[in-house]
Amino acid sequence: MTWDYLIVGAGFAGAVLAERLASQRGATCLVIDKRAHIAGNAYDRYDAAGVLIHTYGPHYFRTNSDRIVAYLSQFTEWHHVDYKILSWTDGRHWQFPINLNTFEQLLGRASTSEEMERTLAEWRVPFESPRNSEEVIISRVGRRLYEMFFKNYTRKQWKRDPSELDASVCGRIPIRTNRDDRFVSDKFQALPKDGYTAMFAKILAHPKIEVRLNTDFREARKSVQFRHLIYTGPVDEYFDHCFGALPYRTIRFEEETLPVEYHQPAMQVNFPNDYEYTRVVEMKQATGQKLPVTTIVREYPEDFGPGREPYYPIPAPDTRALSERYAERAAQERGVSFVGRLATYRYYNMDQIVGMALAEFEKLRPLGPT
Ligand SMILES: Cc1cc2nc3c(=O)[nH]c(=O)nc-3n(C[C@H](O)[C@H](O)[C@H](O)COP(=O)(O)OP(=O)(O)OC[C@H]3O[C@@H](n4cnc5c(N)ncnc54)[C@H](O)[C@@H]3O)c2cc1C
Repeated sequence: MTWDYLIVGAGFAGAVLAERLASQRGATCLVIDKRAHIAGNAYDRYDAAGVLIHTYGPHYFRTNSDRIVAYLSQFTEWHHVDYKILSWTDGRHWQFPINLNTFEQLLGRASTSEEMERTLAEWRVPFESPRNSEEVIISRVGRRLYEMFFKNYTRKQWKRDPSELDASVCGRIPIRTNRDDRFVSDKFQALPKDGYTAMFAKILAHPKIEVRLNTDFREARKSVQFRHLIYTGPVDEYFDHCFGALPYRTIRFEEETLPVEYHQPAMQVNFPNDYEYTRVVEMKQATGQKLPVTTIVREYPEDFGPGREPYYPIPAPDTRALSERYAERAAQERGVSFVGRLATYRYYNMDQIVGMALAEFEKLRPLGPT
């Protein structure tokens, strides 16, 4: 048979497009993924101890878009949660992202927003328009806090100095002078009540959608007949790395189940200056699961290479130049839509990917009769 759409990747980009095309246009969609499961990097599962964990790092869903919440709410109920994290440095836990509580910890006494604002104004190093991640942080909080919380975390994560990375990398972390100690400020912060994988199963449960797992596009393209391709894999791989390989950072996840109800004082603890891992995540604190045991996951950033997962596109001037060459090439490719994080070589949050997929659906013209 000839499928209307071959969709490469069963993550947010591929699944949302399949659902829209099948349910709104009656199109037949074959969704393939080279992994053994749906949900892309948002995949979650119960481990041997029965703890619901996120296989590819913690995925904290948050958005300011009512439209995206309404869309996903067709497929899930929600477990509301304020994501809280701490940072471990100088032998103690600190409130993070930086807020008035952190400032008080630093002073060792009570303070006020006014005092914090005055002090930061003295500490700040002014830059008219910060060009990189070092400048953006020291222009907001000065060198001392930059070195405590940002400098080495970023070096571990990206294997580059913050001065070599786009301002957006560190610039998206909030700095607050009030007591709001949530990780992010978005108005909607929640996890799918039964997990991401269960939500994806519902998104893809349409009679016009077929999902084939353990199926690589490089093989499938030889035999599958289709009218339009939606590609959400790495753009450089699609073009056989014709301009050279795009660089990514990858992560080694080390899981450990412990015979205690909770292991650490927050869902996530960052380790900017100690150990080789960047953070330890105890997802159970966010999912609200009640169990006498817990599972923690340590994250070790590593180099990307054959057989590794390309987790993070590297946002820097040199990588942008190369990814733009691929983007130009992709724009010329007829009958193919490049959608999602890997196909556009850009870090996006999940809600942004849902938004991108919904926008792509609006843009795609109906295929017409065969
Ligand atoms: C460690 C980590 C933590 C994150 N935390 C958050 C968070 O807290 N909040 C948030 O909003 N976002 C978070 N994100 C971002 C989130 O993962 C992405 O926004 C989202 O997964 C992107 O969806 P996607 O469909 O574009 O890509 P993906 O989820 O990566 O899906 C692409 C799919 O394509 C498949 N594929 C690739 N190549 C081929 C091929 N040749 N053949 C067949 N299949 C192929 C892959 O196996 C994959 O399943 C995080 C990302 C990472 C890496």
